[in-house]
Amino acid sequence: MKSSNLGYPRIGQNREWKKVIEAYWAGKLEEQELHSELESIRLGNLKLQQEQGIDLIPVNDFTYYDHVLDTAVMFGLVPQRFAWDGRHVDLATYYAIARGNKEATASEMTKWFNTNYHYIVPEITADLQPVLTVNRPLEAYREAKTKLGIEGKPVLLGLFTLLKLSKGYEAEQFSAWVDRLLPLYGQVLAELEQEGVQWVQIDEPALVATLTSEELAEVQHIYGSLSKQLSGLKVLVQTYFEAVDHYKEIVALPVQGIGLDFVHDRGQNLRSVLEQGFPSDKVLGAGVIDGRGIWKSDLAAKLELLDTLKQKVAAERLLVQPSSSLLHVPVTTAQEQKLDPVLKDALAFANEKITELVLLTQAGNKGAAAVSAGLAAADRGRKALQQSPARNKTAVRQRTAEAVAQPAERTADVETRRKVQQDKFQLPLLPTTTIGSFPQTPEVRSARLKWRKGEWSPQRYETFIKEQIQDWIRIQEELGLDVLVHGEFERTDMVEFFGEKLEGFAFTSLGWVQSYGSRCVKPPIIYGDIEFTAPMTVAETVYAQSLTQAPVKGMLTGPVTILNWSFVRDDLSREEVAYQIALALREEVEALEAAGIGMIQVDEPALREGLPLKREQWPHYLEWAVKAFKLSTTTVKDETQIHTHMCYSEFNDIIEAISALDADVISIETSRSHGELIESFEKYTYDKGIGLGVYDIHSPRVPPVEEMTSMIDRALRVLKPSQFWINPDCGLKTRKDEETVLALRNMVEATRLSREKY
Ligand code: GLN
Ligand code: ZN
Repeated sequence: MKSSNLGYPRIGQNREWKKVIEAYWAGKLEEQELHSELESIRLGNLKLQQEQGIDLIPVNDFTYYDHVLDTAVMFGLVPQRFAWDGRHVDLATYYAIARGNKEATASEMTKWFNTNYHYIVPEITADLQPVLTVNRPLEAYREAKTKLGIEGKPVLLGLFTLLKLSKGYEAEQFSAWVDRLLPLYGQVLAELEQEGVQWVQIDEPALVATLTSEELAEVQHIYGSLSKQLSGLKVLVQTYFEAVDHYKEIVALPVQGIGLDFVHDRGQNLRSVLEQGFPSDKVLGAGVIDGRGIWKSDLAAKLELLDTLKQKVAAERLLVQPSSSLLHVPVTTAQEQKLDPVLKDALAFANEKITELVLLTQAGNKGAAAVSAGLAAADRGRKALQQSPARNKTAVRQRTAEAVAQPAERTADVETRRKVQQDKFQLPLLPTTTIGSFPQTPEVRSARLKWRKGEWSPQRYETFIKEQIQDWIRIQEELGLDVLVHGEFERTDMVEFFGEKLEGFAFTSLGWVQSYGSRCVKPPIIYGDIEFTAPMTVAETVYAQSLTQAPVKGMLTGPVTILNWSFVRDDLSREEVAYQIALALREEVEALEAAGIGMIQVDEPALREGLPLKREQWPHYLEWAVKAFKLSTTTVKDETQIHTHMCYSEFNDIIEAISALDADVISIETSRSHGELIESFEKYTYDKGIGLGVYDIHSPRVPPVEEMTSMIDRALRVLKPSQFWINPDCGLKTRKDEETVLALRNMVEATRLSREKY
């Protein structure tokens, strides 16, 4: 067996990658310096894998921004608006596509499968002339060989996946585009072969979708054509993030290796191998170490898995791999000084996973006894955390089981609640509100920093936050908004804020992962049973409410969003963890209600992005996601109004689940959907309160009154005025004070005009 890696994090141990790229953008670094800084990060990454003893080290997994953009640019797929000479794509053009410039808007960005990584969507239009601008895999291979003596394995995004991820062409044109790009892929591979490259990894994660027979035929056509021209170069078609549904056809592709994910496949890939066998002339890339989770592996179980695979695949044809690129995990646990040692010793980030891969390969080759010390050490950390009190809170487990066994329903139906709530709040037609946050000005951020560093006493910080709340309650009253918020000034981030206050969460110092471009996030780690200890938002909300007669909405992040934006323990199902979060939040909801807060918003912006890759898994996910939300929100009195908020406009396919949340009022981002969202309500009758955002909060532009009245008019063609709310698309924390006030003033005016009409 050999060990192989699929991709390594780009960002460096201390986010050096981000820092140099941003310095270059800011004009503080010359292009030459950028190249040399990035080269040193890149070579450092390779060297580390070399020293650890990885047999097949990936090259060309590195990027200056995003690997999908790299692939598009390599094939000359540069949209016309970035006037370009058709030969070499310079850095200015490259970054303009990613980020926009004065003349042209950036290409769209979207989620990479079901991860929190985002790629730049290639635009493929008929006017483009594909051309090979550079052979990136070849350059990366040469660099690794000459500078480090590494016989690298170039990685290339496959043609099928590239086209699947692109937009701008009609579905009927798919085949034509395959044929236009095939010769270029052929050229890349021919040059690699000529160079003497041994293995190339062609990433085709799109093969884990359920494919039509036409799509399958395209895949066969692509790999049939490519393999015809090759004699020495070995091609490994790599899939990940799910099982392949068309196992028989995929493993029969005329290539030398197939990579499968044995971690996120729900057992399906293994069943396929065992039931249908594996071609004896091929290599199996066995993705056995979780490339996306952050936990140490149960190496004994992984060894067993490899043994099981050996029933069908000869050992010398097995590659021991992570399930996907390690791009999705932080670089190393080595620098974490503040984590509880028990937790730290159970974590494996990229470097630690590399160690696991090597250890596992050795164990596979020489027998477990040969590396028993290593295996035992790995096991100790896992077991210690597993047995720790933090993971074994019987009371939490029991409470959760009992609550989940009960139906989570409001006592009255939505119609009854509407009446009771209207009696209580006496809101005007088309009530106005906002989504929760007001601008996080430099002043707010620096106050928080000073308090965190201990330069400000907690009292001083609290006073500061109270002043912010006062200012904004006054502003909201002056504007004439109907339902007010406290403004979320005390929160940096909508998940971290709650995670820091709940038990069961931990925070790393340097556990960054790339989210998109140079932006990195540091997700909380859910490592233990989750428990509410004390009210988290009551003080600020009650304070805000004490300043006004108007209702102030309490503001919480929902269980599914907290789950989806964290690294989650893997000894419990995500469903179970979601329920634990939900019950902790229920206590907060009840505390707010008991403190006199009559409206409570539970945000679920990440509900949609948690959808599984395979459609047939959707109903199960949606069922428990809805249940979790309802566990948090259904124990309140009829008169307490539950709000929720989501920031996406693809709504159609999950509208029933969203309605099943049974929130009294929902607000949804709309303005970027060009009316598509509103059309969904022609087909589906939504019977609860709903606010479709009437203006885009992503831009500093202040939308005129008429623009908002026309948004309102359009919505009221399909929704009843009696159910409709007026609000912006999302929270306003990224905006400036001045533009926020002007935009909200226009929003209130647009509402006044609409109230006269309806
Ligand atoms: N209440 C949050 C805010 O206003 C919601 C943010 C979000 O939807 N992402 O900032
Ligand atoms: Zn939002």
